[in-house]
Amino acid sequence: MQIKLFNTLTHKEEILTTLESGHLKMYVCGPTVYDRPHIGNARSAVIYDLLFRFARVVFPKVTYVRNITDVDDKINKAAKEQKISIQELTKTITDFFYADIGALNVLRPTYEPRATEHIAEIITMIEQLITNKNAYVNQGHVLFDVSSYKDYGKLANRQLDEMIAGSRIEVADYKNDPLDFVLWKPADDEDDISSVFESPWGKGRPGWHIECSAMSSKYLGTDFDIHGGGADLQFPHHENEIAQSRCATPGSHYARFWVHNGFLTVNGEKMSKSLKNFITVRDLLDQGVSGVTIRYLLLSAHYRKPLDFTQKALDDAKNSLEKFHEVAASFEKGGVAQSVMEDFNDKNSELVETKSPDAARHPLFQRGQVPQKIFDYLADDLNMSKVIAELHQMAKKGEKAELAATLDFLGLYDAKFLAREVKNLSVDENFINEQIALRIKAKQEKNFAKADEIRKSLLEKGIALEDVSGGKTIWKQQ
Ligand SMILES: [Zn+2]
Repeated sequence: MQIKLFNTLTHKEEILTTLESGHLKMYVCGPTVYDRPHIGNARSAVIYDLLFRFARVVFPKVTYVRNITDVDDKINKAAKEQKISIQELTKTITDFFYADIGALNVLRPTYEPRATEHIAEIITMIEQLITNKNAYVNQGHVLFDVSSYKDYGKLANRQLDEMIAGSRIEVADYKNDPLDFVLWKPADDEDDISSVFESPWGKGRPGWHIECSAMSSKYLGTDFDIHGGGADLQFPHHENEIAQSRCATPGSHYARFWVHNGFLTVNGEKMSKSLKNFITVRDLLDQGVSGVTIRYLLLSAHYRKPLDFTQKALDDAKNSLEKFHEVAASFEKGGVAQSVMEDFNDKNSELVETKSPDAARHPLFQRGQVPQKIFDYLADDLNMSKVIAELHQMAKKGEKAELAATLDFLGLYDAKFLAREVKNLSVDENFINEQIALRIKAKQEKNFAKADEIRKSLLEKGIALEDVSGGKTIWKQQ
């Protein structure tokens, strides 16, 4: 089976091939841990998780690296503002990241390197760039000399002057050219000691771009298959990563496929703290929105297109998932769906906790009844609108096992979804279950009047019952 993906580098869809036979290597820019993940961060995490899950069906081995940027100007600033140490801030935010993204069924990548644990590799790469005459030292800074790399701007596909005009390029007296970017910056006296590292150029910290170049080459080699990230990272971050990596190892090409996901807006506007439309994953979870609902919404638009987050879109996501879960949950007890779900939940929590260096291919992806059609749609540049249309078709036709397996594969199944999504429940859940059991017993005893009475009395309390196959009864709040 072949996957077709849009490659930003060549501006066209291409068949995804691997450099090493049967082994896909993928790097995605991870979070800078200074603030809780917002729904824009979550969109990126969920999209590459989908690609990771799908790649594991197609390739015998997948190595997925997503870094954690735990040294950065934004981190220093946030720690100062909150009057806490950098270590305390980065640890807290990293834990929040795992909790919040984990609630969206995002699997842990194979490796999650932290910048502060790779300072030696970063310094080695910077030294190589100086040796190769692609970098220079000035006023305690080490800068990349953009004029030394002739392909600069190829990914962004723009002229250099356009790039300068369109982005916030810092002009500084230690730069020979405004486009030159920082590889190493000197510490100032006020810096927290945990963000200060020894280097041949004095005490300081690495620039953001070089972190990704150094960590990707450590875990994936100088040449690998896919590099992903948000469209906003295309320039200058990804352009700079390419320049550094290719110049540090002449003859290398860095990533062959560049995948970029689209922006997320809230009610048609760019999300920002000043507009007060800044939504974190935690905000939504705290409002009782389930993780799978958020995930479904984030996957509902094509990954390269913009996605507008609205209350209506969230309600639609919830309604669709409710329908799917009702059909899937009515799958007979002891059947594939339930055991697969339980297994998935167990294995998933294991993956989260153990952080295995090479996460084994999940057994779930080798079985189940995911229709080939679903894989075909995903192979078409992750065409989720066709996948979602197919989910609706499966629900309509009552293809329970297929629907359950597909939801599970997509990370959209939550065994507790139906119970969790019922907000402000006026009736105790245990009471409902007792009444359902009594009604089943009454029916078995052919006491239909009593069975009907129980159904009616629950309905008066706003609880509707539905008998489904396998002698089961499900309930729903009206
Ligand atoms: Zn990066």
